[in-house]
Amino acid sequence: MDVFHEAAEILKKSKYTVALTGAGVSTESGIPDFRGEDGIYDGYTQEEDLSVQMMTRNPERFYSRGFQVLMNLQGKKPNDGHKALAKLQEMGLLHEVITQNIDNLDFLAGSKDVLEVHGNSRSGHCMSCGKKVTIQEIQAKVDAGEIPPKCECGGTLRTDTVLFGDPMPEDFVRAMEAAERADTMIILGSSLRVMPVASLPRLVEHLIIINKEPTPYDQIADVVIHKGIGYSMNKILEAIDE
Ligand code: NAD
Repeated sequence: MDVFHEAAEILKKSKYTVALTGAGVSTESGIPDFRGEDGIYDGYTQEEDLSVQMMTRNPERFYSRGFQVLMNLQGKKPNDGHKALAKLQEMGLLHEVITQNIDNLDFLAGSKDVLEVHGNSRSGHCMSCGKKVTIQEIQAKVDAGEIPPKCECGGTLRTDTVLFGDPMPEDFVRAMEAAERADTMIILGSSLRVMPVASLPRLVEHLIIINKEPTPYDQIADVVIHKGIGYSMNKILEAIDE
């Protein structure tokens, strides 16, 4: 039996499966990952530019650099990997999609029960009155030179993305609960190095990992596929249908 059929068998037998996705699931949509071969992570600058400290202490730099990383995600389209997860949910073989991504592509692919453990790049809010705004409203103010962007109440607006230095959101608690309920986790495109999300696979008995590069969990996974995600997920869907 090849790895795709092995993964298909586990998914068919599993009583409760969750997916955990990372930046690698979106590279086939033209969004660079952080730590993959063409990743944009340089170990330091990116983390600083996307930090809550930069946003509050040096908003000029935050809006000219970190915020632009979020804006570059706009207008991207879901790929076969995202679509395969939506299909697995439709077939009743997958419950929650836990994503570290902030690119909205699981929703655009039609997935339900998406837990965005690093927030999103669709919306923002006022840090004083809590008013919700769209990311486009924040961008329009930034483009007009209003840095930091302000709410009508005089408070400062910010993105709903979880920045470095922010606490984890409610979705992370829900992700832990989902992982505790699950007996299988299918992990797509994550180096599994960013904590605390990288601790979630420890809560699950059976692991299927699809990632071009090795991860720290490969040794204990039931199936490891070091190939492209779109290709691999299509092979798994074919194997399920046989
Ligand atoms: P990561 O960059 O650390 O790891 C991505 C992994 O995916 C790498 O090991 C790489 O080899 C693999 N990969 C890349 N393309 C692949 C493909 N087509 N098929 C199979 N494997 C592929 O990603 P991470 O673990 O998610 O951690 C990065 C952090 O940065 C996360 O917190 C995430 O929130 C954030 N981030 C998000 C986006 C996004 O929203 N799309 C993009 C970059 C970074």
